[in-house]
Amino acid sequence: MRWTQTLIPTLKETPAEAEIASHKLLLRAGLVRKLSGGLYTFLPLGLRALRKVEQIVREEMNRAGALELLMPALQPPEIWEKSGRYVTASGVFFKVRDRARKEWILGPTHEEVITTLVAGEINSYRQMPKNFYQIQTKFRDEIRPRFGLMRAKEFIMKDAYSFDTTDELAQVSYQKMYDAYGRIFQRCGLKAIAVEADTGVMGGKHSHEFMVPAETGENEVVYCEGCNYSANLEKATSRGPAIATHKLAPPATAPHHPEKFATPGVVTIEALSKEPHNVTAERQIKTLVYMVDSKLVLLLLRGDDQLNEAKLVATVGSANFRPATAEEIVAALGARPGSLGAVHVTKIPIYADSLLSDATDMTTGANEDGFHYRNVSITRDIGVTHWVDLRSVQLGEACASCGKPLKIQRAIEVGHVFKLGTKYSENLNALFLDESGKQQPAVMGCYGIGVTRTMQAIIEQSHDKDGIIWPLSVAPYRVCITPLGVVPGSAVMTLAEKIYAELSEKGVDVILDDRDERPGVKFKDSELVGFPIRIGIGEKSLAKGEVEVKLRGGELLPTKIEEVVAKVLELAKQ
Ligand code: ATP
Ligand code: MG
Repeated sequence: MRWTQTLIPTLKETPAEAEIASHKLLLRAGLVRKLSGGLYTFLPLGLRALRKVEQIVREEMNRAGALELLMPALQPPEIWEKSGRYVTASGVFFKVRDRARKEWILGPTHEEVITTLVAGEINSYRQMPKNFYQIQTKFRDEIRPRFGLMRAKEFIMKDAYSFDTTDELAQVSYQKMYDAYGRIFQRCGLKAIAVEADTGVMGGKHSHEFMVPAETGENEVVYCEGCNYSANLEKATSRGPAIATHKLAPPATAPHHPEKFATPGVVTIEALSKEPHNVTAERQIKTLVYMVDSKLVLLLLRGDDQLNEAKLVATVGSANFRPATAEEIVAALGARPGSLGAVHVTKIPIYADSLLSDATDMTTGANEDGFHYRNVSITRDIGVTHWVDLRSVQLGEACASCGKPLKIQRAIEVGHVFKLGTKYSENLNALFLDESGKQQPAVMGCYGIGVTRTMQAIIEQSHDKDGIIWPLSVAPYRVCITPLGVVPGSAVMTLAEKIYAELSEKGVDVILDDRDERPGVKFKDSELVGFPIRIGIGEKSLAKGEVEVKLRGGELLPTKIEEVVAKVLELAKQ
């Protein structure tokens, strides 16, 4: 390709809309352009990189035995009603109406479509196992589309769905995808780690997310260097905080019942921890009131802990929840937020975090504005109905399996593998006859990779102050030839054309920067776009019988003219 014949609209200035490095570089290197929030056009160079990521994904899926197909993006709502997700997933739907005013859904994912297909086409154990995948556009009405391709309204996903006859065989399919994902991200030049993940509203049993460590990531990964434990913060557990102050014996003088005391104007954990009360946060019980499926529940956590909403979903089995309003709380408990507690509460389910299980000498709201109780012993004074894990792990807590301090790292989720069990096959009738002629639901797994997000994650992980540093495998072009002077017939341009023709002939992805621009502009642009190999051709080096080969981010390698093609072929080899 000749630079003047394609469109690479590089930008000197960073567009104001971009907050993170990879988003800025996508725009500055002329790879994508925004149409509207969360909607992007891939320009020729961006599309080349995207196609290369797709191709790696495709090759590894094929290698793992998955079968490519292509499903419609437009889906009938009836299949979502059958699976039971029409209401729970409705928050992400883009809905459209046809001329008869019938509603359709622009697919955010395809479990319902594939299971409907399999229900019709597969009916015997002899046809299994099967794993189908597609690389296709998904639509999600994200609350906060941002960071360019990272969280878009429309994006490209590779989604695969496996169907097996037994749980054990479903585990084999899962492992194959897990292994394929490792290879995919490695071939994309990405350092990605697999972490245990929460299954959320998918209703699955078990899942792993593939995470690319990055400060700008929207996820937090908890990991242990002692034993390789790693999990998404939404799922991670620990042995609890290093100083378990709640285990201290109560003062000898403490009465054997909660003692009410006045706390006028004190409505936060922090305020209670200061003068004149001085109750440290870890000796307070935090009481949260939530509406889950239109019913009130109380959630109790230690004062210095945070509620982990993903764990709440897993605990109550519903994603349909919200904090109760002040009016709902006053009606149920008789006090406003800031003075709430669970002592003497009997009619509302009380979910308490297990870290509180043996807590004594605690302080909590008295359900009377301006009053708290002290000397609360949780098992003695509160009718906990469910002991559960509700808290987010904090940095430095002891690893549940080996005791070493846990670390926390921000990361970008690029892929997700789930064991789904039989929820979808039962609801959508994907049944088969087993060897004994008995009808059974297929055991499913589903496996997603955000292809467009992966492309941007590569940039987020691999760039410097001058621009992108593309790994060879996904670079839009592997080689950029930069003649410093483009007069047709000149020695410089003649050699540039010759090398260009020879490399193209050998099948190397190469671009010839034939723009009549100053050397500085050309070099800057090739660094910004991030071509892995550059061949600089100028009169000075030509006089010495040399050209300059440079790896992106590396040294200049003066190279004899007659050796340059062989050398670049070697460097451009994967
Ligand atoms: P997230 O937690 O980031 O919202 P998710 O868990 O909802 O993602 P999945 O349903 O697991 O996403 O989708 C599979 C993959 O699709 C994700 O691992 C991610 O790489 C990608 N993906 C999901 N949502 C988006 C989006 N809005 N824009 C770009 N890629 C996305
Ligand atoms: Mg996910």
